Amino acid sequence: MRLNKGFVAAAAAAVMVLGLTACTDSSAPAVDVETPAAFDEGTTMKKLADAGEITIGTKFDQPLFGLANPDNVPEGFDAEIGKLVAAKLGIQPDKIKWVETVSANREPFIQNGQVDLVVATYTINDARKQVVSFAGPYYQAGQDLLVLDGNPDGIQSVDDLAGKSVCTVSGSTSEKNVLQYTSDIIATDTYSNCLEPLRNGTVAAVTTDNVILAGLADQNEGEFEVVGKPFTEEPYGIGLALDDTEFRTFINDVLQDAEDDGTWDKLWEKTAGKILDTPTPPTIDRY
Ligand code: GLU
Repeated sequence: MRLNKGFVAAAAAAVMVLGLTACTDSSAPAVDVETPAAFDEGTTMKKLADAGEITIGTKFDQPLFGLANPDNVPEGFDAEIGKLVAAKLGIQPDKIKWVETVSANREPFIQNGQVDLVVATYTINDARKQVVSFAGPYYQAGQDLLVLDGNPDGIQSVDDLAGKSVCTVSGSTSEKNVLQYTSDIIATDTYSNCLEPLRNGTVAAVTTDNVILAGLADQNEGEFEVVGKPFTEEPYGIGLALDDTEFRTFINDVLQDAEDDGTWDKLWEKTAGKILDTPTPPTIDRY
C-alpha cells in the first residue's frame, strides 16, 4: 500500500472541484445484480439466494471503507465488496441488512449467526481462523500511526512509541501488535473514539491500519497526519461461518472474477481510490 501525499492533495482538490459528480457517482450501482446460477440444495448460497436478502457486518465510522451515510447505510470499499457478493447471489443492494460490527464483535457475530458475512477491514490470521473462515484477501493494509498535524512529538516510526500513550481498539490486531512497542495503551471500541484523546493530548498517537488512518485524517482536514511507516501486513478477508467451504469458494471465485474483469479497480476508484493510489489486489488464498 502506498500513500502518495502529492496524489492525496491532488485527489482531494479534484474531489472538491468535482464534488457534485463524486456524490452522484458514489450512489450509482457499480455491479449489476445477476440472476444467479442454480445453487446446489443445502448450500448457504442457495439459502441466501432463495431468501433474497443477506445480513452483512461492517464498520460504520471508517471513511473510505465503511462509513454510514445519513440514511445509516455504510459507504466505502468494504460496503462495495459486500454489495458485489450480494449481487452475485441475486440480492439487490436495498435487500442487504447492514449491521455495525466493531472490531471485537466480528468473530462473535459470525459465530452466533447474527451476520452472514463480515466485510470490515478484517485481517485474516491464524487465531481468527480457529473460529471463523475467510475468503480473500481482497486488500492488503499495514499498521501505521496517526499523530497531530505537524507531528509535535516527532514520532517517525513505531520505535518512537516507547513510554508514550497510544489509542487503539479492543479486539483488533492493532492492539496486539502495538503492545510490543508500548504498554501505555488506551483501548476503546472504535477508531473514531480515539480522535478526541489525540486532539486533547491524552495520547501521542492512534494506531491501526494505514488506510483507516488515512480516511480519518482526510475526514478531519488539517488536524492529523499519518506517519507513513507501516510495520505489519494486514490482509483483509471476508469473514464467514467456520468451515463453510462451499460459500468460501464461491466468494473467492467472485473476488477473482472482479480482479480479472476490472470490477475490483472500479469499486476501489469510486471509494478509497478517491484519496489513495490504486494497488494491485493481493493473491487470493484458497487455504
Ligand atoms: N485490520 C485490523 C483487524 O482486523 C485492524 C483494523 C480493525 O480493527 O478493523 O483487527
